[in-house]
This record gives sequence, structure tokens and C-alpha cells, in this order.
Amino acid sequence: MKAKAVFFDRDGVLNVDVAYLYKIEDLQWVEGAREAVAYLTRAGYKIFVVTNQSGIARGYYTVEQMQALHEHMQQEIAKMGGAIEKIYYCPHHKEGKVPAYTCDCSCRKPKPGMLLQAFAEYEIDKENSFLIGDSPRDVEAAEAAGIRGYLFKGGSLLNFVKELV
Ligand SMILES: [Mg+2]
Ligand SMILES: [Zn+2]
Repeated sequence: MKAKAVFFDRDGVLNVDVAYLYKIEDLQWVEGAREAVAYLTRAGYKIFVVTNQSGIARGYYTVEQMQALHEHMQQEIAKMGGAIEKIYYCPHHKEGKVPAYTCDCSCRKPKPGMLLQAFAEYEIDKENSFLIGDSPRDVEAAEAAGIRGYLFKGGSLLNFVKELV
């Protein structure tokens, strides 16, 4: 059976966007974010994160540092009863400093590459799936991938999610 899924942007949706976050000590959760993931997990959704992390191409932090942060975030969400199935990230940027990640890729939102990757790896019920982002480029990526996209403008993410499902 195909799974219904929710795709979250990371910065500005799950955590407060402090620009190029990579240190665990700088992580601040958005109000109701962990609870929102737990709520949707209980409601039977598979939860994914799709995040542009050009700080890697720019040389501000490494993939390993980002992954340590992501593991911490997944553990904190698990404590609340939520489960993040997978975090997709785009490490690229056209004007990066790290050659391996400096390119015009097909995964940086508003391009839909990360969502298409998830659709290739999981059986997803697109009709009943959606994305939540805080930037128009998130919503554009969702629409390009053929799912609904919703713009979160702040406040409680749990309340926002409860209005949608
Ligand atoms: Mg964002
Ligand atoms: Zn990319």
C-alpha cells in the first residue's frame, strides 16, 4: 500500500532559521514543531525533510556536521513520539567554494529533485501527501513534483498542521 507522506522544509519550519545552522547548541525548535511531527506520525504519515544546505558548498560546515545535527533532531523528535523517515538535503550551490558541491544541480529547491528522489525510493500516495515550507521556493518544488505545498508563516507548527489534516 502506498504511504501518505508529509515533507517538511527544515529551516524556518522545524527549527528557527538562524542562517547556516549546523551546531547542535544553536538549534532552537519552532513552537510546536516536534509535536507536529509526532501528531502526523500518529496519524499514519511518513515524515520526510527536504532541505537546501548550500552552507556545505559554501564551506561553512561539512556533511558530517550537518548529519550530527540531523541525528540529534531525529532523536529529539523520537522522544516526543515522532519519526522522521529520511532527511533529504541539497549540499550544492552554483557559487560554492567546495568544488565537489559547486554545481547547478537538480535538487536545490525550487527544483523538485529531492521530492522526486523520495518518490523513487518510497511508494508514496501523492494525492494524500503534501509539503510545508516557509518560502515560496518550497511550495514551487512541491507543485513541480505534483503534490500540494503550504506556506507556513510562523506561530505554532502543531496548530498549522492540525488545520491541514
Ligand atoms: Mg526554510
Ligand atoms: Zn543539489
